[in-house]
Amino acid sequence: MCGVFGIHGHDEAANIAYLGMHALQHRGQESAGLVAADDGKLRRHVAMGLVSDAFNRDVLARLPGTTAIGHVRYSTAGSSELRNAQPFLFEYSGGTIAIAHNGNLVNANELRSELEAAGSIFQTSSDTEVIVHLMAKAREPDVLGKLQAALRRVRGAYSLIILTNDGKMIAVRDPNGFRPLVLGRLKDAYVLSSETCSFDLIEADLLRELEPGEIVVIEKGGMTTHKLPDSTIVDRTFCVFEHVYFARPDSLVNGKSVYRAREKMGMKLALEAPIEADVVIPVPDSGVPSAIGYSKQSGIPFEMGLIRSHYVGRTFIEPQDSIRHFGVRLKLSPVRSIVDGKKVVVVDDSLVRGTTSRKIVKMLRAAGAKEVHLRISAPPTTHPCFYGIDTPTRSELVAASHSVDEINKYVTSDTLVYLSHEGMMQAVGSETGKGYCSACFTGKYPVALGQGADLVQLRRAKV
Ligand code: AMP
Repeated sequence: MCGVFGIHGHDEAANIAYLGMHALQHRGQESAGLVAADDGKLRRHVAMGLVSDAFNRDVLARLPGTTAIGHVRYSTAGSSELRNAQPFLFEYSGGTIAIAHNGNLVNANELRSELEAAGSIFQTSSDTEVIVHLMAKAREPDVLGKLQAALRRVRGAYSLIILTNDGKMIAVRDPNGFRPLVLGRLKDAYVLSSETCSFDLIEADLLRELEPGEIVVIEKGGMTTHKLPDSTIVDRTFCVFEHVYFARPDSLVNGKSVYRAREKMGMKLALEAPIEADVVIPVPDSGVPSAIGYSKQSGIPFEMGLIRSHYVGRTFIEPQDSIRHFGVRLKLSPVRSIVDGKKVVVVDDSLVRGTTSRKIVKMLRAAGAKEVHLRISAPPTTHPCFYGIDTPTRSELVAASHSVDEINKYVTSDTLVYLSHEGMMQAVGSETGKGYCSACFTGKYPVALGQGADLVQLRRAKV
């Protein structure tokens, strides 16, 4: 997953973009990058690691200008290396452009083969580069026309922010609206971000979300809005996993508070899966709001029975298995005084491979818990995501091949219950599930998968 940020018309564009990216750090920790535009000259800095490691005062001082875009990344398509760090900067016949992408294209490999056969030479292994090559080949005279022509060919998930050497900042959301993208104002400047939490940090006002299929062009004279061709005939399918896990709880995504949605998931879970217990504890951080919901609904007291060390990264995101396995104990430790001799309900937002839950149950028992009841505030993750969330291959998803009973045995909990699909959808305000992509829980992929998706799977199998 990734996060994107943009600012147009501010004297300290790079500094503000740096702060905006900071607030999006949860969306990707592998690399961070920024491109700033100053009088038609685009300057770029990218580095592996966190935003605070990638930038310092000197680096930011070398990125002058009133417009800037930023990106935080972890790899879903393309390997984890510096050449894939975004924003990308390309020169082509139409000028210089920088591009930052959140999402995943499902037909990128097909398009790449076609472009390579026609002579294109790619500099990265990222799906995003395909868009730039398609733009370079387009016959349309202006950058908006070229972009529209390119996007007519691609399928999948994309929230994009583009910077051009003629002073434009362009933002696009794919016709399904898989990934979030919001527009705001900071005094006279326009700002764009994956999530509203970065607007709160920089004290910008939220104007609105970009519509699925919308293109917004911001330049000196103001802002114009355009549509992607045929976008009106596509159903919107916002990613429900943004609400379940990915987005920050203080953000509004798809018009709704992430915190409230998670709390409701927990409340629904308490109704669907009650249990007699002494204490409700979350798996921090992402399980906290749903555990609060479970506690409120059930009347069982909420306690922080697991403490998270904030000095290790999100272990799931580390590509190597060895680090991830070690990571759970590094990251979480039980509070004996809370769980000793108690019947404990543990609430987590999702269960993917089951390794985290298994270790947590073990730790809680070792700390004296009498019973451990696991409650997951989302349905079983049975299918990988091809639209930008980092999920492992199907063979590694424990719920793809095991029943809930079998998983309960594997993680050694006393009982295990997941939230129903209906319960999750009700919590995000969609009774029927319409308006959302929940392919990771159902296998119903709203945009047909191509050869590109197969290759993403293959690559994942290798890491
Ligand atoms: P696992 O050990 O594979 O079952 O991982 C489950 C844990 O990973 C849960 O605590 C989730 O909060 C977290 N998680 C689920 N999906 C993701 C993701 N795409 N990226 C990072 N962490 C995740």
